[in-house]
Amino acid sequence: MLSDPVKRKNYDTFGDPAGPGVQPGGGGFSFEDFDGTGLPGAFQDLFQGFGNRGPRRRPGPRAGEDTQHTVRIAFRDAFHGTRLTLNLHRSETCPACQGSGDKVGAPVSTCTACGGKGFREQGGGFFRSREECPACGGAGKKAPPCDNCKGQGRTPRNESVTVGIPAGVEDGTRLRVAGKGEAGRRGGGPGDLYLQVQVEPDPRFERRGANLYLDLPISFTESALGARVEVPTPEGHSAIKVPPGTQGGANLRLKGMGMPIPGSAQRGDLFARIRVVTPKIEDERSKELLRELGELNDGSIRENAWR
Ligand SMILES: [Zn+2]
Ligand SMILES: [Zn+2]
Repeated sequence: MLSDPVKRKNYDTFGDPAGPGVQPGGGGFSFEDFDGTGLPGAFQDLFQGFGNRGPRRRPGPRAGEDTQHTVRIAFRDAFHGTRLTLNLHRSETCPACQGSGDKVGAPVSTCTACGGKGFREQGGGFFRSREECPACGGAGKKAPPCDNCKGQGRTPRNESVTVGIPAGVEDGTRLRVAGKGEAGRRGGGPGDLYLQVQVEPDPRFERRGANLYLDLPISFTESALGARVEVPTPEGHSAIKVPPGTQGGANLRLKGMGMPIPGSAQRGDLFARIRVVTPKIEDERSKELLRELGELNDGSIRENAWR
């Protein structure tokens, strides 16, 4: 749940991984020290918003924290889309106290942590600062903690959550699962779960966005005469026509045979990158034929190479 040690410590200390926090109208610097020292009224008005004066209320709702999980899926699952069932260790609003953290029906008494002041002071002299009492949230009063959640307002819970991963998802995509983070407190809504999706590469394909690139070795003869060649695709295989005279480095396109584009009915393309493989010739008959071929097609290959 809370693996981060700072958050863990904050959670244990304050009941909130974000730390003590600043509630509206409270905390931070106090200018109350200036009171009664002859400051003009206008200044007092100006500073009204900063002080700790005014009736204290129970601290307000606090939204639950967002959480993050990493999932790793196979290339074919990224192609087709998939559903993952995650076993999450999350928190839920304490059913006994409805998230208040207070023991229901118990009498409210003065907060022992701050002696009923609702704040604690730090520093001294001119720059004395005030911090809202984390124990009572600035209220100065406090009910005994709920037995069920020990005053945290929420309880740990294991939950199975099924998440749909869209077809065509890319490595590094961050998916938001609304409301599946940590529970909020005092009526605050839950946080969100963020899924960091890792996609295992398919060694046959290089992926660039929705397009896929495939190395396609063809023979010298296929390059010269053209051929029909079977190539793998994400869902199986397909035949590709290699036109006569196809050179090494050429990209032959199979339109719409790449990855699905999430949220669309379209797909990217599959490109076959041509690599011409020259055969290793050992036998005299083949050498003879190639020499003959060389004489028939002599000369002009480098004619424009260095202009
Ligand atoms: Zn207190
Ligand atoms: Zn409770």
